[in-house]
Amino acid sequence: MKHHVPFTGHLVFIGFGSIARATLPLLLGQDDIEVQQITVIAPVIEQNIWFKERGIQFVCEALTEQNFAQTLDRFVQPGDFIVNLSVEVSSLAVIAYASVKGALYLDTCVEPWAGGYNDPQLDLSHRTNYALRYQVLDLRKRLGRGPTAVVAHGANPGLITHLLKAGLMELAVQLGHPLPEAGEGIDWARLCMGLGIKVIHFAERDTQCSQRLKEDDEFVNTWSVHGFISEGSQPAELGWGSHERTWPSFARRHRFGSRNAIYLERPSASVLVKTWTPLGGPCLGMMITHHETASTADLLTVKDQRKLIYRPTLHYAYHPCNDALLSVHELIGRGWQTQTRQRILNGEIDSGGVDALGVLLMGHDWNAYWFGSLLSIDEARALVPFNNATSLQVAAGVLSGIVWAVEHPDRGIVEPEQMDYERVLEIARPYLGTLVGQRTDWTPSGASPKPTAQESAQDWQFAHFTRF
Ligand code: NAD
Repeated sequence: MKHHVPFTGHLVFIGFGSIARATLPLLLGQDDIEVQQITVIAPVIEQNIWFKERGIQFVCEALTEQNFAQTLDRFVQPGDFIVNLSVEVSSLAVIAYASVKGALYLDTCVEPWAGGYNDPQLDLSHRTNYALRYQVLDLRKRLGRGPTAVVAHGANPGLITHLLKAGLMELAVQLGHPLPEAGEGIDWARLCMGLGIKVIHFAERDTQCSQRLKEDDEFVNTWSVHGFISEGSQPAELGWGSHERTWPSFARRHRFGSRNAIYLERPSASVLVKTWTPLGGPCLGMMITHHETASTADLLTVKDQRKLIYRPTLHYAYHPCNDALLSVHELIGRGWQTQTRQRILNGEIDSGGVDALGVLLMGHDWNAYWFGSLLSIDEARALVPFNNATSLQVAAGVLSGIVWAVEHPDRGIVEPEQMDYERVLEIARPYLGTLVGQRTDWTPSGASPKPTAQESAQDWQFAHFTRF
């Protein structure tokens, strides 16, 4: 099913980093979205000849709390689309602006103004993505229905929610579980409970690398170094499962909101968890905090009145590329003093590396099942210029979010959970390489898989994932 999207407005991009460079050529290559004009606003604009040759206009300015509305006023008209792919430009401020202006909006995370992630005035609970999400939900209440603003819609957060829903449906088919009626009204929490799932990892492994190794005092990554350090320094977060028997060290509950997710009094990049992806099998991931931890904890919680009936433990488990792992190791060793130099790997990446991004559904009758995208650097390069495997998965999330917003222009603030996963994946699918569903006998405790979900609760305790 292909739609022609009647969008004839002006696209205004904030930021010209790795994800904007990855997304712009992808957008220009679409025949189902017509873009009349694109403007990019960023404080640093380098190597943009290819983009200028294709008619993209560049404005070299930094947006701040003081100047952003005035600056955007020069370019944004009602019906236009603002795509925030920057760091340090507040999502909330630009969403509120877009709503008044009558413009559509999309971002890939809920970004605060500069300094927001580490604001010493805030307690740890308010430095989490859970808290940032509640600011968005409060704004949603205040703004009500209006121009669509898609928040947190890259690869993860973003596509991972749609892969989660698709993975749950696939597993239901494999297990012969009754399938819920298709459509937006599926009760995902009851489906997840019915399947007997105890733990979900948003499990990602990136094996891209370059001949040019990381040097001392250098942070290397396959996407934003600034973005990775910001989320890696926020507290670790997880949805806390109803099957769990032992409260983790350093864990705290929030005093506001649904309280379906908790946080650890530890920077998320320092919390290691055992996980599994089809790319090499078992590995150690970082429990990097993300928007989807809180939003999918709400999606998958079953309560009767206020009593908790069911929730899986869920969180991100990220094995970044090897040089990024070394960079985090060095960063922690330096007491979180950021390295002097940064490098985002792209053209120099060797052939053969892959980004595996998917959901690992655990503790059911099939033991564990990974469902997601395996995209190689070679496929990514062949598909869209200026991309590595990671950036193309993110750009596919941005593209599909933009198209979905244009198709549904009056929904107000929308998280990935409120979008139609089949439509979004249909748009993103050509850029995700191979979609794989793979069963595994792996357990974090090393125990042999139990024959039924009922018998296996003990094997899926959080403590097993963090005990080495
Ligand atoms: P990057 O660090 O490569 O680029 C950031 C861009 O923001 C740069 O162009 C920079 O000049 C610009 N910028 C900085 N301050 C600005 C200001 N005051 N006004 C306007 N622009 C400003 O980052 P990236 O890899 O392109 O990532 C962009 C965003 O996307 C980040 O917030 C990152 O965390 C997020 N991201 C999300 C996902 C996902 O899957 N959801 C994946 C990767 C990145």
